[in-house]
Amino acid sequence: MATNRPEGICHICGSTLPLTYEHVPPRSAFNDEPADIFNYMDWAARDEEGNMSGGIRQQRGWGAHTLCEDCNNRTGSWYVPTLTRMARAGLCVLDQMIPDDEANRRSGVIQGATVEFADIHPLRFLKQVVTMLLSANGPAFGTSNPKLATFVLDREQQGLPERYDFFLSFFRGPLGRMIGLSPFYDGRSWSNRTEIAFPPFSYLMTIDSPNAILPAGNISHFANYAYDEMASIQLNMVVGFGHTPIPGDFRSMADIEADRDSAEYE
Ligand SMILES: [Zn+2]
Repeated sequence: MATNRPEGICHICGSTLPLTYEHVPPRSAFNDEPADIFNYMDWAARDEEGNMSGGIRQQRGWGAHTLCEDCNNRTGSWYVPTLTRMARAGLCVLDQMIPDDEANRRSGVIQGATVEFADIHPLRFLKQVVTMLLSANGPAFGTSNPKLATFVLDREQQGLPERYDFFLSFFRGPLGRMIGLSPFYDGRSWSNRTEIAFPPFSYLMTIDSPNAILPAGNISHFANYAYDEMASIQLNMVVGFGHTPIPGDFRSMADIEADRDSAEYE
């Protein structure tokens, strides 16, 4: 059979096979529109209004050829429905808290919220988060973090090493983020972060970073549920924005300008 799939290393199982286009986040979680992807240099060269030039248009939405067909199909049927349900519920909540309008994009403030997600499969949700983060990073990331790869390959497997922490936040945009693992310094300590931020959520993982980088939204304990176990989960979550390429930076435009002004006068 003719195939136009490029061959490469699957980010989950590590096999060299024709790779399928993996939507990150799933297409069913609002990732079904053409998207303009910018890199750090495009962002650094933005104008005063924050407009960027350059960028690459991805007609199918956010994603890339990252997974073999088996890994794509398995994770798609095992984990995606849970994430889609939570993203749909999450967007309804987010739209009530922070309507997606120009005023909020400019001067909305970071908030916290306590939200209940009723009757979800926490383990399946976390496994899809790991699947997306494996896709967002290069294939070597799965090889150097084999416990993350086996965690999604075996749908029943529970528990993850303590070095991995996961945070779920409400995320209004307007810019999305897909950032591979990199070290960041927040003025107090270093942390290794990788993030996918796409409304309504930011999915953030830290590795070997004992200081929690966010005050709320830790979902690492989702790893301890069983595959078929349902729960209603109450979560305290950060509610914020995306204006910089820094994972976990949820400041609004107004916050960023205020920080810049105070830095200038110090
Ligand atoms: Zn695979």
